[in-house]
Amino acid sequence: MSADENAPGDESGGAEDEQAGGRVVESTIPRYPVAHVSVYAPAGRRRWWWYAMRCPHCGAGHFGRARSQDGVKGTRRTGCGRRVWVIVARTYGAREAA
Ligand SMILES: [Zn+2]
Repeated sequence: MSADENAPGDESGGAEDEQAGGRVVESTIPRYPVAHVSVYAPAGRRRWWWYAMRCPHCGAGHFGRARSQDGVKGTRRTGCGRRVWVIVARTYGAREAA
């Protein structure tokens, strides 16, 4: 009948202390299947970074693009609508070999 139960509780203290534990590790563990991609640097008037992957979900090749080289990495959506964890295996066309 009333929405009072949705009101924030009066919990205080305690919860913050748990963060010292080691949750940071989560960011280094891929949550999705890993896809090693080849990245192509922007060329000419093209400003996007393109990448090609072998999809771990459907086995087909997918292309995608990002505004920056770093933007390619991490969680991305594939052409078949699923998510993968992108790792850059090779970079083509970049002047600087990182
Ligand atoms: Zn796919």
